[in-house]
Amino acid sequence: MQKGQINVQTENIFPVIKKFLYSEHDIFIRELISNAVDATQKLKTLVQIGKADCELGDLTIHVKVDKDAKTITVSDRGIGMTADEVDRYINQIAFSGAEEFLEKFKSEGANIIGHFGLGFYSAFMVAERVDIITKSYLPDTKAVKWSCTGSPDYEMEETEKAERGTDIVLHIAEDSMEFCDEPRIVSLLRKYCRFLPVEIQCGEESKWEKPEKAADSDEEPKEVEVKVPRIINNTNPLWKQNPSEITQEQYVEFYRELYPMTFDEPLFQIHLNVDYPFNLTGILYFPKVRNQMEIQKNKVQLYCNQVFITDQLEGVIPEFMMLLHGVIDSPDIPLNVSRSYLQSDANVKKISSHITKKVADKLEEMFKNNREDFEKKWDDIKVFIEYGCVTDEKFFERAKSFILFKNIEGKYFTMDEYRTHIETLQKDKNDITVYLYAHDTATQHVYIQAAKERGYDILLMDGFLDTHFINLLEQKLEKSRFARVDADTIDRLIEKDEPAPAKLSDEEQKTLKDVFENIVDKDKFMVQIANLSETDLPIMITQNEFMRRFQDMEKLSGQKGFYGNMEHYNLVVNGNHPLASRILEETDEAKKTSLTQQLVDLALLSQNILKGEKLSEFIKRSVELL
Ligand code: ADP
Repeated sequence: MQKGQINVQTENIFPVIKKFLYSEHDIFIRELISNAVDATQKLKTLVQIGKADCELGDLTIHVKVDKDAKTITVSDRGIGMTADEVDRYINQIAFSGAEEFLEKFKSEGANIIGHFGLGFYSAFMVAERVDIITKSYLPDTKAVKWSCTGSPDYEMEETEKAERGTDIVLHIAEDSMEFCDEPRIVSLLRKYCRFLPVEIQCGEESKWEKPEKAADSDEEPKEVEVKVPRIINNTNPLWKQNPSEITQEQYVEFYRELYPMTFDEPLFQIHLNVDYPFNLTGILYFPKVRNQMEIQKNKVQLYCNQVFITDQLEGVIPEFMMLLHGVIDSPDIPLNVSRSYLQSDANVKKISSHITKKVADKLEEMFKNNREDFEKKWDDIKVFIEYGCVTDEKFFERAKSFILFKNIEGKYFTMDEYRTHIETLQKDKNDITVYLYAHDTATQHVYIQAAKERGYDILLMDGFLDTHFINLLEQKLEKSRFARVDADTIDRLIEKDEPAPAKLSDEEQKTLKDVFENIVDKDKFMVQIANLSETDLPIMITQNEFMRRFQDMEKLSGQKGFYGNMEHYNLVVNGNHPLASRILEETDEAKKTSLTQQLVDLALLSQNILKGEKLSEFIKRSVELL
């Protein structure tokens, strides 16, 4: 028997590591299974290239949980190890990983978060003793048993083993007994190993089967419960398959496999398949999102060679992709590091921007190949694209060509098309093109009518990210401004050279303004006299574009700040309307007040801000006037 000390300086590092990896204890199973899969794949490759001459046979990896013996055993039929190899790979290399960890631990202090894959060594997070019983695939080699109790001392001896491959036996420590439980291990295997390329079996499960009908009987046989081996994984996940051979049904089916609790179908998906300058495969699904509440982050799962790593991808993939669903698989993403390291890794940044490019390419292709279909999808995908644009400048640059504007008639335009569409009529006297928009065609009907009478076009901007998006567009589009139709009177939203003639003298306008100011709450309303056409409305309420946008953005971010508390409107009185003259000419003060109040209330009513007592008074007054 060989005895020795593994290459670790500190006397007993295990308790230290145990403590600091506490939240991640369950990854030991991922590490052990990954090693078993690697050993199996290596053997397959050797046989394929003619470097090994052996019968592959059944390569299933078995995981056994024995509650009485307090052990978990992971067995594979891969390449196995000779005594020499155990010495080299386990005693020296595997433990140098542990040493490295300790070094890191010292320099980073308690800052180590997230993944620190310790490979084989992580078994000691849950085990007080680990045995390796292994036999190499090479002919005429002896099986070896290696055993270590978590102190730096190990024992190694020759042993008997019938089959090629490796058994890793964990003798579970008292404080980790929770893991010595088959359902628990099954759920961990389903989390980490669900798509590994070699079959993994753990325990048995029930299946209901109908036996063959007996030849001498008419009776339908009853279904019986049979026990079958429980296979954990789908060894050939869809993202690894050739996109040209996958049907849409299969994509939807795979979506269901990933998210059994989601009942909506995804809108569509993007199959990623990159092999240069790095390796990356995956499928990103665009889910149906109807409002802000339905957005779910942390649905995209990151895999490394089909091993689940994490679904906490903040800072790892582009922000807007956090809203998508699906999987990304790349062997080029460094795993054995903390998340803060992952976020600053140059490779990860490259991968992230490349995914952005791929997603944009795919969307552009969809737009070019079938615009009609793209328009149909637009309302549903708009939120992702807008989010992408406002959070990632590069994405906006790529999306420019397929961003669509929808007007209130339901017609779609690209940004360029729309500019051409409105440029002639909607330029103001300063040569600024004004994009008019409404967010609710029913409540803004009056304003929309006014704009339509001028022949203007109006966009529908009813998405919850539109305000942010409009801010971005104003920075990007030259000589352009966005204005919601109720932000001012239409002629002031798009000011033209010729000022409208005024029927009232300056003096009369001042008097008219005073009359209204005496009636309204001056903290809330600013009275303005405007010279509109006689056929325009006598009075309307508008709300400053920028003030309203700030309020919208505050609402979206969930804060109640400065602008949210400021309810402020303009009360625009049309000085050219016959009713304005009537108010001025009225000599009976009581009648004058009642007429003015009635007009103000009508305006409030049209904006849906006449409520409570004021509304009752209005109704009463209206009846009296009738
Ligand atoms: P890593 O897998 O990152 O190389 P590990 O500490 O997990 O590090 O394992 C160290 C080495 O031990 C592996 O590279 C491999 O050569 C060997 N090894 C571990 N598990 C097995 C196994 N089940 N079968 C064969 N060799 C193994």
